[in-house]
Amino acid sequence: MSGIAETFARTSTAGQNKENNSIALEVRDVVKSFSTDTGTINAVDHVSFSVNHGEFVALVGPSGSGKTTMLSILAALLTPTSGQVLIDGQDMALMNEKRRVQLRREKIGFTFQSNNLIPFLSALENVELMLRLNNLPSQMSGGQQQRVAIARALIHAPTVVLADEPTASLDTERAFQVVQTFAALIHENNRAGIMVTHDLRMCQYVDRVLQMRDGKLVRVYADREEILALARGGDH
Ligand code: ADP
Ligand code: MG
Repeated sequence: MSGIAETFARTSTAGQNKENNSIALEVRDVVKSFSTDTGTINAVDHVSFSVNHGEFVALVGPSGSGKTTMLSILAALLTPTSGQVLIDGQDMALMNEKRRVQLRREKIGFTFQSNNLIPFLSALENVELMLRLNNLPSQMSGGQQQRVAIARALIHAPTVVLADEPTASLDTERAFQVVQTFAALIHENNRAGIMVTHDLRMCQYVDRVLQMRDGKLVRVYADREEILALARGGDH
């Protein structure tokens, strides 16, 4: 087992893992609207899906299709305009702010594009996260940094692990390594993983691909052959 896999295994308490195929995360008819100068736009437009424990899912789609907004809602960093998000059966919309923050700490791990400065988190939280690490990220390669960011996202043994473009700044070889590690950690520890990626090649490591366009979930790839064909299609 790699160092990160060990770290991860240590943090997963026996009995805490849910059985495979039980629902970890459920998104029900979620809408997120933003008011802009030119009117209201639905960044997320009536999206529904669920992710099981032990399942790794990719969220793909062109720029502006609503991927980051969706992920931020799943991370309890944004509140949906309507619809529900349930984690381990608990409806986030029914929680007060304090409970939601607690749920985020306990059940959700996330790593964002720029892993040194996780957006939305306060500077203090970032410093705390850094102090948990043995090495300073600046001394590590991009691949190491991103793997540490993922391990960090998993440190509290969360139910749901979210990653927004985890390979954006990596070369091909490192990118494959990072996503492969991510997939292994999700599968071995029965977590629900959701990765936003613009790089379809990374989809070879996931169990399902959710494709968004204009805020809508337009297609789901669940068949292994279809996923591999999509991954072979290239970096678009
Ligand atoms: P993606 O991550 O797929 O590129 P985003 O979720 O970032 O897409 O954005 C989806 C749409 O919502 C885009 O049209 C974007 O301009 C808009 N959007 C996102 N956040 C905001 C915001 N805070 N205010 C207004 N519009 C936003
Ligand atoms: Mg985005």
